[in-house]
Amino acid sequence: MNTQNEHPSKPKLVILGTGFATFSMLHYLHLKEFEVCIVSPRNHFLFSPLLPSTTVGTLEFRSIIEPIRALQERAPLKFYQATCTGIDFDTHLVTCEGSFDGETFLLNYNYLVIAVGAVNKTFGIPGVLEHAHFLKELADARAIRQRIIENFERASTPLIPEEERKRLLHFVVVGGGPTGVEFAAELHDFMEEDLQDAFPDLMPEARITIVEASKTLLNTFDQELSEYTMKRFARAKIKVRTGTLVKEVLPHGVRLADGTELSSGIVVWSTGIGPTPLLQSLKSVAKDRGGRLVTDEFFAVDPARRVFAIGDCSTRSGDELPATAQVAQQEGEYLGKHLNRIVRGKTPKNFHYRHMGMLAYVGDRRALADTKRVKGHGFTTWIFWRSVYLTKLVSMKNKILVLFDWFKTALFGRDISRF
Ligand code: NAD
Repeated sequence: MNTQNEHPSKPKLVILGTGFATFSMLHYLHLKEFEVCIVSPRNHFLFSPLLPSTTVGTLEFRSIIEPIRALQERAPLKFYQATCTGIDFDTHLVTCEGSFDGETFLLNYNYLVIAVGAVNKTFGIPGVLEHAHFLKELADARAIRQRIIENFERASTPLIPEEERKRLLHFVVVGGGPTGVEFAAELHDFMEEDLQDAFPDLMPEARITIVEASKTLLNTFDQELSEYTMKRFARAKIKVRTGTLVKEVLPHGVRLADGTELSSGIVVWSTGIGPTPLLQSLKSVAKDRGGRLVTDEFFAVDPARRVFAIGDCSTRSGDELPATAQVAQQEGEYLGKHLNRIVRGKTPKNFHYRHMGMLAYVGDRRALADTKRVKGHGFTTWIFWRSVYLTKLVSMKNKILVLFDWFKTALFGRDISRF
């Protein structure tokens, strides 16, 4: 139980989550004017736009994370590695479950910010949780990287039956949104640039298939860019099965809606995101059809009770902003400044979203840019893609590590050790 303010003169601000929204908010918040307490099962911030690059070793895992405690350099703040399991809006208490021993504790708040992000959507499809890999956290990327290399090593053992070898070397990606496309692109680069030299005999059998329910890949991008990606993938022999729904994930593959089975050595599930268990448990608050918390124009869930929600877990009433990093980042910036104004008794300002556009990597040093100023694809766009992400990384340490990893990969290739 921790229900006392340690500094009674300062309002206690409890923040749930350590994603883009939180990190951005903390950057703008006057930390010294609050007693800040952060609760999250993850003790670091993850620069998720570059996560697919870590699944094959283009980037190292630790190059795209920043410990949340690094912020203690700016001001004292508390962090608890725990999951918030309930909120009592009447008593201003949140219930948390520790990440290590599962102990339950309570925290009081004067202000609460819910920035818990989202979880992978499975649509209740059988076998997803048991047999598929998600791509949302570093642990997912690490498991995928180990599995890819393991499959190649297994496939090269002398007594392996042909059918089993083909299965191990078939990589299936379910969902042709940006996550699925960028992962397939990185995997293809890994095969062409590194695994080709290490396993030349196996390469003719190695295959990637993307299964996408709708008619096209990247359907939130400009149609021309989505067509370009389909053509590039066809040339790279990445099989794209559009208009195809996966109905079940099996221990060794997937079953499609028409009953066909695709045997596979790994299934990566990237069919979008949905509400976390915490959001599902909150009954007395307004939510949209996707289960996100609906807030007022100032991101307040309930202004009288001083509860705010930002990032992937929320949507402003009347807005239809997508659950992306740039939206979370801008909402975090706004709320940090908004809270500063509240404690100083200033009148609130309005939030204006600035859409920067979308970027995606499509393999072989080619990227897409769908922005107001630049709409294009190809090698120059890939340079633009890298420059944008390099500038967006949150710390100088991350920028240097990412730059170093890119040079290392270009010079020496990706590491294919399994440990
Ligand atoms: P998404 O929602 O963008 O795409 C998921 C895809 O899976 C959809 O095209 C859907 O038709 C398909 N799908 C759903 N169920 C299926 C099934 N059973 N079988 C086959 N296909 C199925 O999901 P995402 O790619 O994980 O992205 C999540 C969010 O993050 C989005 O808002 C996205 O814009 C954002 N994001 C953006 C970038 C970028 O801009 N570079 C990168 C990653 C994520």
